Amino acid sequence: MTIPVRSGAAPDPVAPHRPDATGLVDRYGRAATDLRVSLTDRCNLRCTYCMPAEGLPWLPGTQVLTDDEIIRLVGVAVRLLGVTEVRFTGGEPLIRPGLPAIIAATAALTPRPVISLTSNGINLDRLAAPLRAAGLDRVNVSLDTLDPARFTELTRRPRLDAVLAGLAGAAAAGMTPVKINTVLMRGVNDDEAAALLRFALAEGYELRFIEQMPLDAQHGWDRAEMVTAEEILASLRSEFRLTADPAERGGAPAETWLVDGFTDRAGRPARVGVIGSVTRPFCGDCDRTRLTADGQVRACLFATEESDLRGALRAGADDEELARRWRIAMWGKRAGHGIDDPSFLQPARPMSAIGG
Ligand code: SAM
Ligand code: SF4
Repeated sequence: MTIPVRSGAAPDPVAPHRPDATGLVDRYGRAATDLRVSLTDRCNLRCTYCMPAEGLPWLPGTQVLTDDEIIRLVGVAVRLLGVTEVRFTGGEPLIRPGLPAIIAATAALTPRPVISLTSNGINLDRLAAPLRAAGLDRVNVSLDTLDPARFTELTRRPRLDAVLAGLAGAAAAGMTPVKINTVLMRGVNDDEAAALLRFALAEGYELRFIEQMPLDAQHGWDRAEMVTAEEILASLRSEFRLTADPAERGGAPAETWLVDGFTDRAGRPARVGVIGSVTRPFCGDCDRTRLTADGQVRACLFATEESDLRGALRAGADDEELARRWRIAMWGKRAGHGIDDPSFLQPARPMSAIGG
C-alpha cells in the first residue's frame, strides 16, 4: 500500500514518527477507509451473547452525539480522511429517529461513500424504502435461528416474524445484497447452519457466520465453547458443496465460498461467508475505524483505548483539528486483537456500546 504523504509539513509533536499522510494510516502500513458509526447503545432485543436480560446502564442522553454532530464527524472522515464506506450500527440503529436524515446527509457528501447498515431487522419492513430513498445502499440483518421458540429464547423477545419481514422489506426496497449475520452457539443453534443457508439461498440473501467473540457485557465468552469457522464449514459441507471463492477478499472480514448449484438474486453464483475473527484473524488487512455513539474513536473492536472527539467538537475544534485527532488515534492502532495472548483483556465496553 502507498501512504499518500504531504511534503514539507512539520512532524506532529504527538505522533512524531507518523508520516504526514492525509488518511487514517497506522504504523503497520494499514489505512482505514471503512468507518463504523454506532448510533446508539440501546436495543430492542437482548441477545444472550450480547446483553444481559435487564439491559445495560445506557449512555446518558447528553453524552450521545446529536444527529448534527454525527453528520459533521462523518463528513470529516469522508472529506478529509479518505473514508469511502460508512456503516451505521449500534445497539440497534433503526431505533434512532434521525437515521433517515443522517443517511441522507452522508449520501450528499463528496466523494459519496458506500452507505450500509447493520440491524436486527425489527421495523425494517416499513423503514427499508425510506432509508433506501435517503441513500442506504446495503443492509446486514442479524438472524441466528429460524425457530420461533429458539429465537425468543436467544433474543429474549418474540420477534422472529418482524425480523423475517424486515429482511423481505430490504430486498423489496432494492438493497443488494441483503446479507444475514449469524452467530452460532454450541448447544443453542449450532445445529442450524445448513438450515439457515438453505433459507438464505431460497430467499436470495447472502449468509455470513460470525465466530462468537469475547465482547459480551456479561463476560461469559469461553473459547472452548465457541463454534469455530472450521466446525461451521464442516456442518455446511454435510449438505452443500462449497468451493473457494476466486474473488479478491481485500479488507473484507468474511472468507467466502461459492455454493455449487445455486445463484443469487442477480443470477451470480451464490456465496456463503464465514468471519473467523478468533480462529482466522484478519487484523493484518483491517481497514476499519470506529466511532461510538458518544463520540469516541476506536481503532479496533478490541481496543482498550479511545480518543474523545466529542469533547473537542463541543469545545469548538474545527474540522482540521478533528481530523488531526482522528489520525493520531488511528496511528496508535495495534497490530492485532490479541485474543490468544495470555495478557488479553476484554474491552470495558461491550459490543452493543462499541458498535458491531
Ligand atoms: N443490533 C444490530 C444487530 O444485531 O445487527 C447491530 C449491532 S450488533 C452488536 C452487530 C453484530 O454483532 C450482530 O450481527 C451481532 O450478531 C454481532 N454480535 C454481537 N455480540 C457478538 C459477539 N459476542 N460475538 C460475535 N458477534 C456478536
Ligand atoms: Fe441488540 Fe444487536 Fe446486541 Fe442483539 S446483537 S442485543 S440485536 S445490539
